[in-house]
Amino acid sequence: MYDLIILGGGPGGTRAAELAGKAGLKTLVIEMDRLGGTCLNRGCIPTKAYYASLVGGRVPPEEMWSYREGIVKKLGEGISTLMKMSGAEILRGRGKIISAEGVKILEVETADGVKRVKGKRLLLASGARSLPLEFEGADLPGVLTGDWAVTDPDLWKYPETDEVKSVAIIGAGVIAAEFAVLLRRMGKEVTILKHSDQLLRRADRDIKKKLAQSFKKMKIALVDYFSPEKAAAEGGKIRLRGKTREGEYELLCDRLLLASSMVPVLDGYGLENTSVKHSEKGIAVNSHMETNLPGVYALGDVTGGMMLAHLAEYQALSAVEHMLGREYTIEKDHVPWCVFSDPEIAAVGLSEDEAERRGIAVKTARAYFLGNGMALAMNSTDGFIKVLASKEDDTLLGVHIIGPEAASLIGEAALAVGHRMKAADVARTIHPHPTLTECFKDALFRLEE
Ligand SMILES: Cc1cc2nc3c(=O)[nH]c(=O)nc-3n(C[C@H](O)[C@H](O)[C@H](O)COP(=O)(O)OP(=O)(O)OC[C@H]3O[C@@H](n4cnc5c(N)ncnc54)[C@H](O)[C@@H]3O)c2cc1C
Repeated sequence: MYDLIILGGGPGGTRAAELAGKAGLKTLVIEMDRLGGTCLNRGCIPTKAYYASLVGGRVPPEEMWSYREGIVKKLGEGISTLMKMSGAEILRGRGKIISAEGVKILEVETADGVKRVKGKRLLLASGARSLPLEFEGADLPGVLTGDWAVTDPDLWKYPETDEVKSVAIIGAGVIAAEFAVLLRRMGKEVTILKHSDQLLRRADRDIKKKLAQSFKKMKIALVDYFSPEKAAAEGGKIRLRGKTREGEYELLCDRLLLASSMVPVLDGYGLENTSVKHSEKGIAVNSHMETNLPGVYALGDVTGGMMLAHLAEYQALSAVEHMLGREYTIEKDHVPWCVFSDPEIAAVGLSEDEAERRGIAVKTARAYFLGNGMALAMNSTDGFIKVLASKEDDTLLGVHIIGPEAASLIGEAALAVGHRMKAADVARTIHPHPTLTECFKDALFRLEE
């Protein structure tokens, strides 16, 4: 009997296995595909390998396909080693819940037949997939989904990719924005077809504005309020027809990428046969990631909300701490997120719109990378840092960055926002020179002007 059975070996499941195994819980991870899940094999890491090549200029584009494969392999081996070192067992195969009440029983279809395993606790970490869009021709060859597109040689592998001159992307979130930048950097014609007039819904208004300007400069076309109706093959290309607020809209493209949103994976493992509360938005959990059934936990993308690899990992900490009789909970407003667009974007805390919605009076300030010595030395001055603090008591409530190394810079901001620090205290923390972090400090001091 295992102390913990984990269904799904993505970043959430494997982090939970590492923590539980190290704490002495007899742990089993069931994974039907590759360890590392979407993040390692088809998401965060592959896209950033391409980004390092196409935006960072660190690897010639002709080599980025094999560069990505190398990184994914190395990290995959690292996870296997980590699992061994923490004492967690891996069972390869598709898991299915037989009973989730009392003793948890699962059957796993492995290459050697069906195996039955039992555990005191069960953790569901089955991830998410691209929302299937329903329109005629959505299943044509050449129509790809955001969750698998990184492994398509026609898009990323030279010389095959030379055949693909134009890509239309349906979606306006992080995945759509990142793919748009990468493909544009490869010289392809890119059109983003948005369901509304928004790009990166959750981002602060000034960041959205700046990103839209950058996309315009990069000649990435943006179409608002698009709803697809039909895709049809036409001489090796795809003709996409739909509607916008202005009326009929159509375009001809070599590839169509469906990247509108990700939805939790709730099927294929017997969830429907349990009384675990869930809706199409995900499995419902409390602040310890426990479902309504005692001893059944869920985390990561399958719980809906913000679908981020680092959030899944911290949710694993929350779940395992609870299993061990300890407590660690996550405050949603304190989860940082990044977009590897050009310029890079990162944020933590409230946007100005969100603060307004909640009726919180805020003061805001900005500092521009153009005035930062390091950004000038790096020849990367496009962008700014915007900070928001409570008018009432100066608590730092939000930090929004668009510019060089935004994703790395957000770490300090996440610490400050997460610990509800006063903006003045963060400003008075000595920041080293010459660094991009001085831009954050400058924005904070400007709140006092
Ligand atoms: C293109 C793209 C780019 C992304 N970039 C970023 C980024 O830069 N930063 C970021 O934070 N997030 C990013 N994400 C999101 C990130 O990948 C996910 O948030 C993260 O992988 C979620 O982890 P998870 O453990 O919940 O699920 P997953 O990583 O999806 O893992 C779930 C695992 O469960 C397994 N599984 C499912 N059902 C069964 C079953 N019945 N039996 C056995 N195994 C099963 C699957 O095979 C899979 O390996 C990106 C996603 C995509 C698609």
